[in-house]
Amino acid sequence: MPLKVAVVGSGPSGFYTVAALLKADVECQIDVIERLPTPFGLIRGGVAPDHQKTKNVWRAYEKSALNEAVRYYGNVEVGRDITIDELAGIYDAVVLAVGSPLDRRLGIPGEDKKGVIGSASFVGWYNGHPDFRDLNPNLDIQAAVVVGNGNVAVDCARVLAKTPEEMSTTDLTDYAAEAIHKSPLTDIYMCGRRGPVEAKFTNVELREMGQLEQCAPIVDPAQLPDEIIGDFDDRDRRLRERNLATLREFTEMSPDGKPKRLHFAFFTNPVEILGDDRVEAVKMERTAVQDGRAVGTGEFVEIPCGLVIPAIGYYGEPFPGVPFDEKGGVVVHQDGRISDGVYAVGWIKRGPTGVIGTNKHDGDHAAQQILTEIKEGGKLGRDQLETVLGERDVRWVSYADWKRIEEAEIENASPGAPRRKFSRVDDMLSALDG
Ligand SMILES: Cc1cc2nc3c(=O)[nH]c(=O)nc-3n(C[C@H](O)[C@H](O)[C@H](O)COP(=O)(O)OP(=O)(O)OC[C@H]3O[C@@H](n4cnc5c(N)ncnc54)[C@H](O)[C@@H]3O)c2cc1C
Repeated sequence: MPLKVAVVGSGPSGFYTVAALLKADVECQIDVIERLPTPFGLIRGGVAPDHQKTKNVWRAYEKSALNEAVRYYGNVEVGRDITIDELAGIYDAVVLAVGSPLDRRLGIPGEDKKGVIGSASFVGWYNGHPDFRDLNPNLDIQAAVVVGNGNVAVDCARVLAKTPEEMSTTDLTDYAAEAIHKSPLTDIYMCGRRGPVEAKFTNVELREMGQLEQCAPIVDPAQLPDEIIGDFDDRDRRLRERNLATLREFTEMSPDGKPKRLHFAFFTNPVEILGDDRVEAVKMERTAVQDGRAVGTGEFVEIPCGLVIPAIGYYGEPFPGVPFDEKGGVVVHQDGRISDGVYAVGWIKRGPTGVIGTNKHDGDHAAQQILTEIKEGGKLGRDQLETVLGERDVRWVSYADWKRIEEAEIENASPGAPRRKFSRVDDMLSALDG
């Protein structure tokens, strides 16, 4: 009897689990269950539209999806269309690979004002995630503040800063391109509680900020230390030195002739969002770094702006029927095991850290656990899933259906662009019917 495995979520961690199971010399039947019709999680809905090379990792996942042991059930939400307990009854093993879709909150007064939009929503909006299609952020603004000094903050700032020409070879959604490119935005502030040495962005992403056609990076040279003091290993020190060198280069660039500016506002901690019902400014406390931690100095500044994007990390969504660690924003598990036959991988297991490849370890580990702990398949698996979904009138999308949706996206693309994304589930399903 083949081992019947359900993988819930079709992002990197889900597909790395599938690949690891396929690699083992064990007969398996693996079903990938995904709430959207479209696969690949944050590869489609998170990774920046102008980073198509990074997005190309989906090609590796597709190899698994096309294996005859694997079937894709898109447009099926676990918790809505079928419960985790039902899946555990149908499959020998269930792997939760559902990611961390929520924004960590700033936890300061005023953060519920209009115009404060977390990076998960903002990124989802420009990337065509159906949950955020109707976000309609007001970009009739002069200045935006992005809170955070990681790569997601850099992505948000860069997408706001690039010109239509720079974005013409990307799959930035039409509606986001229109709103961004007609915006009178001139100043983007990227705020970090700590300094340039502690910033989390990688050097490749940072360097891009010096190569923008119409946006100049602005760095206060007084904020750049002459040397890196602190307890860092060699690799870490080199990475930080590279960032400092790039920031030093930025101080020598002239902003003249560029209508937009990206201000690196290090040592600033937002303490209040100001305005009536809509954000008008962010009140920031200046900080100093002591023993690697940001400490308030009691000096405050206000940055007037019409948009605030907190990009300070992601948080998992409590999953019906699964114990949840409120503090960590992850499911409760022991070394990835949630209960007998139920496992977690990726961001919902580890929290939102690391790069795409980091999820591979989780996939390998879960596959190994499944193969060691579950000796024999005996449950009904796929046939029973289809019976249940059929009884509930759930319209699932197969991998072949997804390829037809993708084909329509490619056909609809403007010259030079890889695709024009559908961003509404109904439009995706209509593309199949049409
Ligand atoms: C904005 C952003 C940009 C990034 N850019 C990069 C980059 O350039 N390079 C890099 O290395 N890393 C990048 N990352 C990190 C990378 O995307 C993550 O490491 C990776 O996507 C995490 O994989 P995952 O499978 O845990 O979660 P996800 O990719 O989030 O996948 C989870 C999947 O589960 C599905 N799902 C959720 N709930 C359910 C449910 N109830 N039923 C069925 N399906 C469900 C979701 O729809 C989704 O498809 C970025 C992350 C973000 C947020």
